[in-house]
Amino acid sequence: MNVVTDPKPPETDAVTSTSAEQDAAATGVLTIDLDAIVANWRTLESRVLPAECAAVVKANAYGCGTEPVVRALAAAGCKTFFVATLGEARAARAAARSATIYVLDGCFPNSGAHFAEIDCKPVIGDLNELAEWDMFCRRSGWTGGAAVHIDTGMNRLGLSLADAEGLVPRINAGNHGITLVMSHLACAETPQHPLNGRQVASFREIASQYANVPASLANSSGCFLEPQFQFDLVRTGAALYGVNPTPEAANPMRPVVELKVRIIQVRDVARGDSVGYGATWTARRPTRLAIAAAGYADGYFRAAGGADGVRSAEVIVAGRRCPIAGRISMDLMAIDITDLPDKAVRRGHMATLIGDGVTVDELAHHFGTIGYEVLTSFGRRFTRVYKSGETTS
Ligand SMILES: *Cc1c(COP(=O)(O)O)cnc(C)c1O
Repeated sequence: MNVVTDPKPPETDAVTSTSAEQDAAATGVLTIDLDAIVANWRTLESRVLPAECAAVVKANAYGCGTEPVVRALAAAGCKTFFVATLGEARAARAAARSATIYVLDGCFPNSGAHFAEIDCKPVIGDLNELAEWDMFCRRSGWTGGAAVHIDTGMNRLGLSLADAEGLVPRINAGNHGITLVMSHLACAETPQHPLNGRQVASFREIASQYANVPASLANSSGCFLEPQFQFDLVRTGAALYGVNPTPEAANPMRPVVELKVRIIQVRDVARGDSVGYGATWTARRPTRLAIAAAGYADGYFRAAGGADGVRSAEVIVAGRRCPIAGRISMDLMAIDITDLPDKAVRRGHMATLIGDGVTVDELAHHFGTIGYEVLTSFGRRFTRVYKSGETTS
C-alpha cells in the first residue's frame, strides 16, 4: 500500500555511548536518559495501581525519539501507547510489535485500512467518524477495535455527553468494537480548579454506563489528583519525560534530558559595548563572553535572552550558572562568563543549557511557556544520544 508518512524524525547520529562530547564534530548534544524515562513510568505505574499506566508518545515522544522511547518502555512492561497521528503510530509499531496503539487524532474519511495495516486503533471523537469506522470494519472484516473519546468540558475533541449516551444500547448489546472509553482533563495541573470535579463527575456517570469497557481520564497531572480520577487506565506523557506534573509542589519525576552545546568562541568586550541584535545589552564592566552554538532555530526561545535591566535564562559554563548577554540569535547565543576564573573556558568546551540543575521547567519559565513546548521544540541539529544501563554498561 502506498501511504504518505509523517515527516521522518530528524536525522540523528543516535549512538549508544555515554558521551558525544567525545565526538569532536558535535555542535550540540541532546542526551536522553531512557533509564530515567522507565523509572518515571514505574513511579507513575505504582502510584496508580491497579490502573494501567499507558505512555503517550506523540510528537516524537515529546521530542525524545519515538522508537527508542517505545522500545525501552515496552521492554519495561508498558503495554499501551498513545500517539497523535498514523505516521507516529507506524514508528511506535516498528518499536513494539505487540503493544496496543491508539491514535488520538482518530481516523479521517477512507483511512480505515491504514489502521488495520499496522493494527492500531483510532480514538473516535464524533458520531460521523464512528459511522465511517463501523462501515470500514463491516466491509473489511477488521475487528481491531477503537476508543471512544467523550468530551466532558475541554471542548476540543470528543462526543457530546448526549451522543455518548446514545451509544449505551450498542454497548449493552455486546460485540460493539469499543475497547476504551476516554475523556481528557483541561486543568489537571491545577488541583483546586473546579472544572476537575465537574469533569470527573460527568465522566464517571457516562463511563459507568459503558459496562465492561475500560475507562481512562487522567493525563500525567491527573495521576496526582484523587484516586477517583484514575479509572482503569491513565495516559501519561509529560511526566515520563521529566516535566513536573505537580507545578505547585516539588517535582516527583527524574530529569530525562540534558542539552549541551559547543562554545565556538571566547571574546572580550569593553565596558560600554553592546552585544547582539538590537544592541539591547550593554557591558557594564570589561566583559568576557562565550559564544555558544545554539539559538532559537534549535528551540532555545528568543524570550530567554538578556537585555539591560532584564534577567535572562542561565547557562551552566564550567560548573557555574552564567547569564545570557543580549538577544538569542537563530544559531548563537552570548553567555557572560566574566565571573569565571580566567582560564576556565576555552573554545571547544560545552555549555549546559539543560542539566546540572537547570530543568526543563525552569527554562520553560524563561521561555514564557511550559515544559511540553520546550521538549517538543528541540531542534534537529542536535546529536541525540541515548543513555541506558543496557547500552552503556
Ligand atoms: C497529550 C495527551 C495526553 C498526555 O498528557 P500529559 O499531560 O503530557 O501527560 C493524554 N491524553 C490526551 C488526550 C492527550 O492529548
